Amino acid sequence: SSTILNDIYAELPFLNNNIDNLKKYKENAIYILIRNYELDDICETILNYVNRVVYPYYDFVFLNDKAFDPYFIEKTSHYILNRINKGSERLAKQLIRISYGLINNDIWDPLQNIDEYNPSLNLTRLKENWEQQEKDNVLYGGSRSYRNMCRYQSLGFYKHPLLNDYKYTMRMEPGVKYTCDFDPFLELRENTKYAFTIALLEYENTIPTLFDTYKEYPFLKYKQAELFKFIQGSDDGYNRCHFWTNFEIISLDWVRSVEYNNLMDYLDQKGGFYLERWGDAPLRTLAVVETLNVNEVQWYDIGYFHNPFSSCPGSYEVRKLRKCCCDAWDPENMDKIPNEDAPNYNVPLGLQDFSCLKEWWKFGEGKHFLFKDYDNL
Ligand code: GDP
Ligand code: MN
Repeated sequence: SSTILNDIYAELPFLNNNIDNLKKYKENAIYILIRNYELDDICETILNYVNRVVYPYYDFVFLNDKAFDPYFIEKTSHYILNRINKGSERLAKQLIRISYGLINNDIWDPLQNIDEYNPSLNLTRLKENWEQQEKDNVLYGGSRSYRNMCRYQSLGFYKHPLLNDYKYTMRMEPGVKYTCDFDPFLELRENTKYAFTIALLEYENTIPTLFDTYKEYPFLKYKQAELFKFIQGSDDGYNRCHFWTNFEIISLDWVRSVEYNNLMDYLDQKGGFYLERWGDAPLRTLAVVETLNVNEVQWYDIGYFHNPFSSCPGSYEVRKLRKCCCDAWDPENMDKIPNEDAPNYNVPLGLQDFSCLKEWWKFGEGKHFLFKDYDNL
């Protein structure tokens, strides 16, 4: 009804009373892959989200390989709709669509049909492999479900019908904290296809053959790509830098593109999700390097925590503007900061040795603040 539309326009002034702007605003969704027993942590994160996101009226899509408990659905919906204390609850109920989807078991766990998936794999041998990797301290090396998760985040989630109507997603994970104000989609630049906040080094023993496999990709163009500098190691190797995907904003048109899927299907066919323990983060990073330009990737300089790492804007101006409550690096220790590439920034707390933001700043970003001019900030 027009009363609701008036409410919406009053609450979201940047829409300029324009229905097309509203439709565009509704092309964004928060995407959460999650298990029922993570309810406690996701409620904390949602509570934090509605307090920190400037206009928290985006849709939510929850996905699970098992059926969601009715109690999980009731409580997460409640936290999204009833705890909005910056805006109106009535508006939230009209504007926010929350969906809960089941992931088809054949899609989630391809080892169910192992011969069809990859005839060169053998389940008994894989299980022995995983036991050995567990002994060798490969992170999640013994886990089949974690591997399914990594594969699903790499090449599965954007094919789920519940995401069909959306153009961009922000990934949310249980237990995450946002410690500054931000807005996942209003801050996105026009041509951004991928956005991240933390970048760091991957554990070597999860991806022993990944980079060599990538270099054999028939359509490989990584060396021509400007973004290659972000992952370039010595001796034609991988420096192990990757975007930390537990926070990421993704253009679904991008991940649905032929170029993105060709690379993912190629890597999937090599079996590394199961033979090794390839994570979705290094795979996403290779796809970014292979298929995007520097100006299609955006760094979100926000306060963010996901166990065991956190980041905090290094600039006092940014922290003030975003009303951050995170601790930046102690100025007393400024001499320990390798900041010649980014004089205005402290290395985010907890990341000083293995942050890859320094690699990102080589492209020139990080020295200025990209934040849209909201009237209420
Ligand atoms: P970590 O952050 O790498 O330690 O891995 P997480 O346990 O946080 O998993 C990443 C995301 O996938 C989180 O949002 C989890 O809730 C989700 N996830 C992991 N494993 C499973 C699973 O077996 N089933 C479902 N439904 N979600 C999972
Ligand atoms: Mn996580």
